[in-house]
Amino acid sequence: MKIAVLSRNAELYSTRRLVDTAVARGHQVEVIDPTLCYMNINHNALSIHYRGAALEGIDAVIPRIGASITFYGNAVLRQFEMMGVYCLNTADAISRARDKLNSMQLMAREGIGLPVTGFADKPGDIPDLIEMVGGAPLVIKLLEGTQGIGVVLAETRTAAESVIEAFMGLNANILVQQYISEAKGADIRCFVVGNKVIAAMKRQAKAGEFRSNLHRGGTATEVKLSSAERKTALQAAKCMGLAVAGVDILQSKEGPVVMEVNSSPGLEGIEAATTVDVAGAILDYLESQYQKHQDR
Ligand code: ADP
Ligand code: GLU
Repeated sequence: MKIAVLSRNAELYSTRRLVDTAVARGHQVEVIDPTLCYMNINHNALSIHYRGAALEGIDAVIPRIGASITFYGNAVLRQFEMMGVYCLNTADAISRARDKLNSMQLMAREGIGLPVTGFADKPGDIPDLIEMVGGAPLVIKLLEGTQGIGVVLAETRTAAESVIEAFMGLNANILVQQYISEAKGADIRCFVVGNKVIAAMKRQAKAGEFRSNLHRGGTATEVKLSSAERKTALQAAKCMGLAVAGVDILQSKEGPVVMEVNSSPGLEGIEAATTVDVAGAILDYLESQYQKHQDR
């Protein structure tokens, strides 16, 4: 197959692993920076140009679109879809998952476990917002945050009010969430490919920290999922319409709750923690789905 990996950086671990694995299987692979693509959107003449020439003969696309280029990256991905090229994750699914508000609304409707969560832009009544999600302690998050930055634990109602006011002063969209203290600073990353969780790791925050992000000093180890956790992860990925997803779960006393669903889950942490050949599992899936796409 001729495979295009849509990624801004061929040197990233995840990109490299996917490329090397595909090449080792005899595929032809090209890393394409979506931001450098330009598109022709005439009827009957859909095309994508890259570095001065039309991209032709591509059989499958692996999108690795970072959050900062979601809009244009997805436009390029959608153009491939319109041209009939098989894409591992669709542009629709990626935009759905990137919009945290939308994804939580969709998951809530499906009955998927979630921490009690409130969203607010300019809450007219902060005490009522706090009350609505069950009071302090609360986790307050910037909607646009990553790697645990912009995630604050407010232990008391007064602290919660001040943090919400501060974020509001910065015109930031925020999410106010029940603090799952029984998770004890740990979360579970479930790596979903197709209808399977192919690998899972538990990330534990360092002492004195509640955020388990590896960027915040957390450590990761392989974990065996309960059937409820497995089911929740698969439901969440399916609800987003993602074939490949990283579903982050907290173990609450009411059962697994989904924190977020990542559409470009990283390979490095999970491959190191579990020794699962995640890139191989993705390629297996891609090859089988490509066959189905061809047979349609
Ligand atoms: P980011 O997307 O920036 O990583 P997250 O929402 O994943 O932000 O939060 C970072 C970390 O903080 C999580 O991995 C988890 O360990 C912890 N955390 C987040 N929300 C909660 C919560 N509601 N209850 C307990 N811990 C939480
Ligand atoms: N690379 C991030 C991860 O390890 C997520 C990227 C994203 O989907 O926004 O899950």
